[in-house]
Amino acid sequence: MDLYEYQGKELFRRVGIPVSDGRRADSPQEARAAAQELGGQVVVKAQVLTGGRGKAGGIQLATGADEAEQKAKEVLGLDIRGHVVRRLWIEKASDIEREYYLSITLDRGAKKPLFMFTTQGGMEIEQIAEETPDALVRLHVDPSEGFQPWVARRLIYGGGVTDPSEQKQIASIVEKLYRAFVEFDATLCEINPLIVTPDGTVKALDSKFTVDDNSLFRHPDIAEMRDTTAADPLETFARQKGVTYVKLDGNVGICGNGAGLAMSTVDVVAHVGGKPANFCDLGGGGSAEGVVDALEVITRDPQVKSIFFNIFGGITRCDEVARGIVSALAGDEMRKVPMVVRLTGTNEKEGRAVLAQGGFNPVETMDEGARMVVELAQGV
Ligand code: GDP
Ligand code: MN
Repeated sequence: MDLYEYQGKELFRRVGIPVSDGRRADSPQEARAAAQELGGQVVVKAQVLTGGRGKAGGIQLATGADEAEQKAKEVLGLDIRGHVVRRLWIEKASDIEREYYLSITLDRGAKKPLFMFTTQGGMEIEQIAEETPDALVRLHVDPSEGFQPWVARRLIYGGGVTDPSEQKQIASIVEKLYRAFVEFDATLCEINPLIVTPDGTVKALDSKFTVDDNSLFRHPDIAEMRDTTAADPLETFARQKGVTYVKLDGNVGICGNGAGLAMSTVDVVAHVGGKPANFCDLGGGGSAEGVVDALEVITRDPQVKSIFFNIFGGITRCDEVARGIVSALAGDEMRKVPMVVRLTGTNEKEGRAVLAQGGFNPVETMDEGARMVVELAQGV
């Protein structure tokens, strides 16, 4: 689960990482009140779950309440990489002398947390890695050893920070960021930029924070931070139905039993020139009830022109699955969208016969099914 900047900063604050004082605002009036309360120059910051807000006009400096209200009007409703701005964070403006970068992520390949630090902050990490790779210090932490003070020193000296006061402040932030990463079960904590003000204070000006979904049960306060209004309504509906569903932007609905099979189905449809509308995993069994739930979700997407069911009958017999599909969908609304069913495994011949009788398009191979479903989507 990704957190908004202001939520990540709240977690930073809890572990003692310095951040600026700020207020939430969802309307120009609230932005005005926040600016008044904070006083002086403020920054009006779009709260969206994506980066690059600065370049997209989502970060605006404002002096006084009038200007803050004006800037809030401009930023609210902006579309930043497909995310519409509905929330703002109004923060006391900082003077910036230098911009650094500090992050910790879970390096799944190495099975260890990975720190990255560079004094070339401000731009996005992909750009940093490309333009100034030598200036980027990377350092793994052995989780069984835990955090050691030398980790911070290595990052700081490696990055070329020479000012003793800065070194001390950054070392403390590095340690606290590690604590936040572990304590909140994060997979990413990124500070970009980590700034140095003209008077030598180091603080986090931005926050990108991702918490492992599997750990949310032990962080009810963080779980509550989820913005259900920003989530795709179809994905929310799918979650309620217990269907694993991710919306994509094509027109071929896809459903498989098993995440691996569903993913390769997405790939194969794309490979033969189709555009998958979604990823959907029925789960291992492929019960008739699961099929109906999945279909209900998939057909709610008006972009879907055809649907590809890719079922591998292992423990569940193919003829059972086929009877389930046919009886569950007999005379149903959802049948308006043409469907191709690839059914293979135990009792596959019987299964395909049942489907053909029920008016479906049963096929034997994934390739054949993918081609057929793409043609159907194109209205061929
Ligand atoms: P991002 O573009 O989504 O990464 O948003 P950031 O929060 O990192 O802000 C982008 C840029 O806006 C920063 O790199 C700063 O240069 C600038 N910025 C943000 N807050 C302030 C501030 O308080 N004062 C000044 N002068 N610039 C700021
Ligand atoms: Mn940033």
